Amino acid sequence: MYKVLILGGTSEGVALANKLSADPIIIPITSLAGRTREPKDVQGFLRQGGFGGVEGLVHYLKSEEVFAVFDATHPFAIQITKNAFSACKSAKIPLARLTREPWAAETGDDWHNVENIAEAVESIPVGARAFVTTGRQELEPYFERRDIWTLVRVIDMPAKQLELGRGKFIAGRGPFSVEDEVDLMRGYGVDLLVSKNSGGQSSYGKIIAARQLGLPVVMVRPPELKLETIICYSLNEASKWLEGCLN
Ligand code: NAP
Repeated sequence: MYKVLILGGTSEGVALANKLSADPIIIPITSLAGRTREPKDVQGFLRQGGFGGVEGLVHYLKSEEVFAVFDATHPFAIQITKNAFSACKSAKIPLARLTREPWAAETGDDWHNVENIAEAVESIPVGARAFVTTGRQELEPYFERRDIWTLVRVIDMPAKQLELGRGKFIAGRGPFSVEDEVDLMRGYGVDLLVSKNSGGQSSYGKIIAARQLGLPVVMVRPPELKLETIICYSLNEASKWLEGCLN
C-alpha cells in the first residue's frame, strides 16, 4: 500500500482524493489547513492543521512513510506550496502540483489586472459598490476605504463581526451558478467585482455574470512561484504522473 499525501483546500484536491481512493493500492491522505469550519467530505483519510513549517512537514512525510505528495492547494496559497517543495526535496519524495490555468479575459470582459490586494483596493473608484470575493484574509484594506460599499463573500461568517467600513458579509461556498451570481450582483446593486485570478470552474460563474452585466472586474494576478515542480492541470495528468512514480 502506498500513502499519497494531498495538500488540499480546493475542489480539485477533493476530486483527486476521491479518484485515488478507488485504487486498491493507494491510501490518499488529504491535509487541510483547518480554517474552514465544515470542510467538504472527502474519501480516504483527512488530517487538519499546519505541520509546523518545512521541518514539521519533513517529519510528517518520514514518520507517515508517505510515498508521494500532490500539492493541490489554491494557486494563491504560496507558503504551503513553497514548504511542500522544500520538504519533498529534503525528504526525497516525489511531488507534483495539481493546479489550474488562470482565466483569460474574453470578449466582453472589462478586467483591470492588479498584482495584489493593496493594488486592488486602491483601484476601486470612489463611491463604488464592490463585490469582494478575494477571501477572508486581507480584508482590512477594503474596510479602510470609507468611501466605498462592499459586499464581502466568505465561506464562514466571521465569528465576531469585523469592523466593516460600509457594507455586508455574506457566507457561501462554490460552485455558484451564473444565474445565482447575476441575481446576487443585481440584487445588491453591485457595480464592480474584485476577484483573484484563481482559474478553475467552481468560481468562474461570477466572471461570466460580470461579463453579462457589463461590470468591470478588478482581477488579482496569480503569484509566480518559479519552483521547478511537475505541474498537472487535470486529474488524468495527476494519475498518470503517480502511475509513473509507481512503475
Ligand atoms: P498559506 O498562506 O500558503 O499557508 C500558511 C500556512 O498554513 C502553511 O505554512 C501551513 O502551516 C498551513 N497550511 C496551508 N495549507 C495547508 C494544508 N493544505 N494542510 C496543512 N497545512 C496547511 O495558505 P493559505 O493561503 O492561508 O491557504 C490555506 C488553505 O486554504 C489551503 O489549503 C488552500 O488551498 C486553501 N485556500 C486558499 C485560498 C487563498 O486564496 N489563499 C483560497 C481558497 C482555498 P505550517 O507551516 O504550520 O505547515
